[in-house]
Amino acid sequence: MMLILYVDMDYFFAACEEARHPELKGKPLIVGTGSEKDKLRGVVQAANYDARKFGIHSAMPTMDAFKLCKELQYSPPDDAYYEEVSKRIMELLSGYAKRMEVDSIDEAALEIEAGGYAEALEEGRKIKERIKRDLGLPCTVGISTGKVIAKMVCDSAKPDGMEAVEANGIKDFLKGKDVESIPGVGKKTAEKLAALKVRKIGDLAKIDPMVLIDALGSFGRELFLIANGTDESTVEENAGVISISRERTLERNAKSVADIEATLNLLADEVITEVKRQKLMFKSIGVKARYFDFTDRLKSRSLNSYTDSKETVVTTAMSLFRGLFGEKPVRKIGVRVSSLISVKGQRNLF
Ligand SMILES: [Mg+2]
Repeated sequence: MMLILYVDMDYFFAACEEARHPELKGKPLIVGTGSEKDKLRGVVQAANYDARKFGIHSAMPTMDAFKLCKELQYSPPDDAYYEEVSKRIMELLSGYAKRMEVDSIDEAALEIEAGGYAEALEEGRKIKERIKRDLGLPCTVGISTGKVIAKMVCDSAKPDGMEAVEANGIKDFLKGKDVESIPGVGKKTAEKLAALKVRKIGDLAKIDPMVLIDALGSFGRELFLIANGTDESTVEENAGVISISRERTLERNAKSVADIEATLNLLADEVITEVKRQKLMFKSIGVKARYFDFTDRLKSRSLNSYTDSKETVVTTAMSLFRGLFGEKPVRKIGVRVSSLISVKGQRNLF
């Protein structure tokens, strides 16, 4: 039978820091958005479980995190390192999968052919062991018939866990959970469902599907099927890397695009070096501006064809940034390329 193993790394960035600085293990640790010097000015990107015990979580201002825990350890972000570790994880995972879909820097869905759930659990155990042995990192594995449910099983088995939910157990597994725990159900969808008096997945399973389709279109149909234990989502192969990005805090707050040209050139250089090293091409370019008040704005543009040209990155990014400069000075900028394809010329994209 075909089964889906969903693998999600636990507190990924912070775990990467623990792996290379073992002295941090067992201590509350966060990875923030700023340098060591700016550690009180950013937000938490990842917190290990020792830090979570204090109520610290990602997206919280680091200032608040330090208030909650005086001995909190801080690590500035190192995106290049996390991307490198991610690549090694995905490479390792691809060896276990018939087909694989990379969902984010630290998550992937693997389609496997197994004799049954016991065999799939055995595969999951091997994967967890390899990732721990080779990379020193914990992860959680969820197993089920489709990608969406496997991811939900994975979420509920965290941290460092593994769980399988068989087809006939899915309805029971889901019924007590909030509708927002279904991947893809955000605030807006949850509000529409609440208007129909649907808050738990168990309510979703019982409602007239035509009412759902009326409110949410084809997504309503999918949700009804999932709530009733049928997950039609499948693994879609992709290039193994979602995006490549680099960011820098500016030495001085910038008021116009002219002020960021040099930094942008540097970032474009770094992004292109990585794109070429991984033998990739991209079709989408995005930029991020972080303002002095720590709000972020993002813009992106799709190109007509795939490229690996630095000129294209610089000119496109410049034109995107023009729309992001106004009254608020900018303190940090980022450049990202996405919609990547491998140019190694082989089916196995790793
Ligand atoms: Mg994760």
